[in-house]
Amino acid sequence: MSVAIVNTCDKMRQLSERARKEGRIVGFVPTMGALHEGHLSLVRIARKRADVVVVSIYVNPAQFTPGEDFEKYPRMVDEDVRLLGTVGADYVFTPDDAMIYPEGYATYVTVEGLTEGLCARSRPIHFRGVTTVVSKLFNIVRPHLAVFGQKDFQQLAVIRRMTADLNFDIEIIGAPIVREADGLAMSSRNAYLSPEGRVQATAISRSLGEAQNLVNAGETHPDEIIEHVRRVIGEAPLAEVEYIELVDPDSLIPLTEVTERALLALAVRFGQTRLIDNSVLTVPE
Ligand code: AMP
Repeated sequence: MSVAIVNTCDKMRQLSERARKEGRIVGFVPTMGALHEGHLSLVRIARKRADVVVVSIYVNPAQFTPGEDFEKYPRMVDEDVRLLGTVGADYVFTPDDAMIYPEGYATYVTVEGLTEGLCARSRPIHFRGVTTVVSKLFNIVRPHLAVFGQKDFQQLAVIRRMTADLNFDIEIIGAPIVREADGLAMSSRNAYLSPEGRVQATAISRSLGEAQNLVNAGETHPDEIIEHVRRVIGEAPLAEVEYIELVDPDSLIPLTEVTERALLALAVRFGQTRLIDNSVLTVPE
């Protein structure tokens, strides 16, 4: 399967408009590239639901906080395009910074509330950057549906809110987290891990599994669950916990008791590498 590379906004819009006029369903998967099975799983979902599948690859400067890894973020478009060919994407949209943020650019999209806790505490401008670029991409690609991973659970919640609030006529589809065989959630940033860090990082998914076991055994106190997760991650000497929280999966507000469903979300640093993961814990009936 050959994938067509589209590198201007006008061309992307034209292709999408033509598809829409022909009555074809346009599916969209926004990414920052350095693609792995997690990304490809989203493309497969889009492929099942849409006639035309567009994947964007754009490392969006607006979502990186100063001092983060924007410059060294892995960029490997040729390999990405090859991988996208294996899962049947039709177009890869690869805009550059001058197209997305031309001189004089001054407009930002902000979602309130959902963007205040969890990752936003250490990445204060991150979600504003995400919602701004995703709105722009929605307007350029004009998809009927767009697929986002639950790996970035807070991002998915923010995008759903924005899509509803701004009347984007786009169905947002959430896709399950894809993991390595040893449980580590796939991420382009896993490549930064040292060999020791890579081994120790399995503590993260292990801790999520143990948290569900505690809930299965009747534990309902967030503090107890969070303490246990902290202990399991603490067994990895290189791990530095940024946050571990139990929140309502819809509002992302911290819970005082686990009743039905609770989002356990965490961010942990291994050296310079910041990893996030999460799991929705369910209380057995
Ligand atoms: P990124 O390239 O990191 O911006 O991610 C692009 C999309 O892929 C986002 O919707 C992510 O949530 C999703 N994604 C990244 N890693 C995974 C994963 N391990 N499983 C499922 N989706 C993922």
